[in-house]
Amino acid sequence: MNEIKFLTDAMYGRLTRFLRIFGYDTVYADDLEGVFGIVPVPDEKLAEYAIENNRIIITRDYAFYKKNRDRSIFLEGEGVYNYLDQLKKKLQLNFNFDMQKARCSMCNSELEKVNDKNLIINEVKPETFKYFEEFYQCTKCKKVYWKGTHIEKIMERLKSKQRNVNLFF
Ligand SMILES: [Zn+2]
Repeated sequence: MNEIKFLTDAMYGRLTRFLRIFGYDTVYADDLEGVFGIVPVPDEKLAEYAIENNRIIITRDYAFYKKNRDRSIFLEGEGVYNYLDQLKKKLQLNFNFDMQKARCSMCNSELEKVNDKNLIINEVKPETFKYFEEFYQCTKCKKVYWKGTHIEKIMERLKSKQRNVNLFF
C-alpha cells in the first residue's frame, strides 16, 4: 500500500483514475459533492478535508495552491502523462502496475483477487474471459480488473515518456 494519499481537484478525472490504478489512494473533489452537499465543493472545504484526512491536494488553481502551499501540488500544462511526469519528479512517485496494490479507478476502493474466474464470467467480454486467468474485483462497486492490453499500453507510454525526458539531460 502506498502511504501517500491525494485529493484531486476538479478537471483531474483522468489523472485520478491513473493514480488509483497505480495504487495511490486518491479522492476526487467531484466525488465529495455528496459528502458536503454543495456543488462545486468550496475550496475551504476541500482544504479542510485534505488536512483532516492527511491528503495532498493536486490542483491547477494557482490561488488555491498558494493558500495551501504546504499540502498541495500545482501541475502545469495539459495531459495525463505530463501530469504523471511532474508528480514523479516532485514527489518521487513510482508508477508500477500491481493488481494486488491497485485501487478501483471508479471508486478508489481496494481490489481483491477473484478465486474462481467463473464467478465473473458475465462481467467481462468472452475473449477476455478466455485469454486471462487472473482477475481482481473492486470490494465495493464490483468492477472487474485484469492485466490487459490497455494496461500494457499505459506502461509503454510512461516508459517512452521517460526515455524522451532522459534525452534532454
Ligand atoms: Zn469500485
